[in-house]
Amino acid sequence: MWEKIIACDRKYDGLFYTAVKTTKIYCRPSCRSRKPKKTNVSFYLDINEVEQAGFRACKRCQPEVEHSPHIGLVRKTITFLVNHYKQQLVLQDIADHVGVSPYYLERLFKQETAETPRTYLEKIRVDKAAYLLISTDQTNLEICYEVGFQSPSNFYRVFRRLKSCSPSEYRDLDR
Ligand SMILES: [Zn+2]
Repeated sequence: MWEKIIACDRKYDGLFYTAVKTTKIYCRPSCRSRKPKKTNVSFYLDINEVEQAGFRACKRCQPEVEHSPHIGLVRKTITFLVNHYKQQLVLQDIADHVGVSPYYLERLFKQETAETPRTYLEKIRVDKAAYLLISTDQTNLEICYEVGFQSPSNFYRVFRRLKSCSPSEYRDLDR
C-alpha cells in the first residue's frame, strides 16, 4: 500500500484509504498532496472505519466523493481536445495534459463517455471538416490538414465511417 501511494496509483482509489496521524486527514492512494512520513500513516480498507477513527477527508483528493474527480478529468480532456484538434495529438500528449497515465485516461474516458479520446477527437475533426466543406471553397486536402488529420487516406476513411459518404459527396449534397 505504501508503494501505491508513493506512485499515486489511481487503480487503488476506493480500495483503501491513507490516514495520517499528525494531520488527522485521510486520502485516496492517488492523492497528489505532499506524501506523509511513513511512520505517521495507517491504512484503512473501509471508509466508515477511517471516519469513525476521527479522520477528516482531504480537500484535495476528496476521498469521500465517488465520481466528481473522474467527471472533472473527462471535462478537462474534452476541453483540451476541442482546443487542440488541429495539432497532431497522441494519447500520451492528452494524458500528460490531464496528469494521468494513458492507460488510465483511456479506460476512464471510455467508462464515462463510451468513446476513447481518439474516437472523440476524430468526431471533432470530422465535424469541423464537414462544416468547412459546406461553408468554404477549400479543397479536401486543405481541409484534411486544417482539421488535424495527418494523411488524406486517414481523413477519407474516418470521414466515411462517421458520415457514411466521402468528403466530396458530402459537399455535393449541400449544393
Ligand atoms: Zn488527499
